[in-house]
Amino acid sequence: MKAAFMFAPDDMRVIETETPVPGPGEVLLAVRAVAICASDIHIFADGHSSGTYPSGPLILGHEFSGDVAQLGADVTGFSIGDRVACEPSWHCGLCDMCRSGLANLCRNVIFPSFPDSPGAMADYIAVPASSLCKLPDSVTYEAGALVEPLGVGLHAVRLSGLQAGQDVAVLGAGAIGVATVDCCRMFGAGQIYVAEPLPGRRDFPAKLGAQVCASAAELQALFEADDSHPSLAFEASGGATAFAETMPLVRAGGTAVIIGIPEPDEQVFSARVPRRKELTVQFSRRSRDTLDDCVSMVAESKVHVADYPTRKFPLDRAPEAMQAAMAREGDTIRAIVTP
Ligand SMILES: [Zn+2]
Ligand SMILES: [Zn+2]
Repeated sequence: MKAAFMFAPDDMRVIETETPVPGPGEVLLAVRAVAICASDIHIFADGHSSGTYPSGPLILGHEFSGDVAQLGADVTGFSIGDRVACEPSWHCGLCDMCRSGLANLCRNVIFPSFPDSPGAMADYIAVPASSLCKLPDSVTYEAGALVEPLGVGLHAVRLSGLQAGQDVAVLGAGAIGVATVDCCRMFGAGQIYVAEPLPGRRDFPAKLGAQVCASAAELQALFEADDSHPSLAFEASGGATAFAETMPLVRAGGTAVIIGIPEPDEQVFSARVPRRKELTVQFSRRSRDTLDDCVSMVAESKVHVADYPTRKFPLDRAPEAMQAAMAREGDTIRAIVTP
C-alpha cells in the first residue's frame, strides 16, 4: 500500500510500505478520508508530540473514515464493505480510569499517529473493531472523518454543563472551535460570541449564528460596554496567550473550558482574574463516548459538519495537504486527504 510518512520535521513523503494485518479484534480499514488536525501539524513542525519522539518514520492522521476491507479473528458486528468512522483513542478497558468510565484518560491508551502508532494517512490502517461506528449512507466519508473533531467539541460542551439560553464565548474558529459552536447551538445556547483572528475563518461561525470578533480583546470591549460577560467560555485556539485571554471574558462565578493545546505549553496569566471571580477552570481531553452520538448528530443534520469548509487532496499529494493545513489560508478549517 501507499502511505504518507513523516521522516523528519517538515519532511513528508508518500512511499510504498507493507499493508498492515489486522490482529484479533481488529479490522483492516481502507481509508477514504483523513483530516489533518492541529496536533498533526504540531508533530510535523516540531518532530515530536508533547516531548515524545517517533523512533522512525511515522504515518500521521487520526481523524478518519473508510471501508472495512478485512476482518481479524473474533470480530463480530461488521462485514466487509461497511462504511465506518473511528474514535481514535483506543483504550484498554481494564485500567482504573477505564473502569471508572474515564476511557479518554486510559493509562494504556493507543492513539494512532502519536509516536509510534501508525496513523491513517495511508491506503489502509488496522483498527480495533470496538473503535468503529457504521456510517449511514447519507453521511459522506469526509463528514465521517470530521466526526472526531466534532466529538472533541461535544465532549467539552458536555463537561461545561451548558444550560439552554446561556450565552457563551468561544476563542478560535478552527475545526474544534466551530464544532464547539455547533454543539453549543445544538444544546440551545443563547448568544454565541467567537473571537477569530484569521479573516477567512470568520464567515462560517457567523453563518451558524455566532457574533464574530477578530480578537479576545474586541470581545472583552464588547462585554465591558454593557457588562454582558457570559458565564461560560471555551478556549479552542491553542494560542500563545490563550489562558490570559480567556479568563477575563468570563463573568464572576462562571466557567472557562480549555480545549486547545496551547503553544507554548507554559502559559502565563494573572491569578487574580480567576481568583477574584472564583472561576471554574475545566480542562477537556480529546473526547469520551462521543462517536455514536456524533454520527447520529451528523446523520440527523443536528450539526453542520457536512458544510464545514474543507479542501481535499489525493494521498499522493499528502505533503501538499500538510502545507495547506499549516498555511491556514482562506476559509479552510480542515485539509482532507482522500486515499
Ligand atoms: Zn484531531
Ligand atoms: Zn484503560
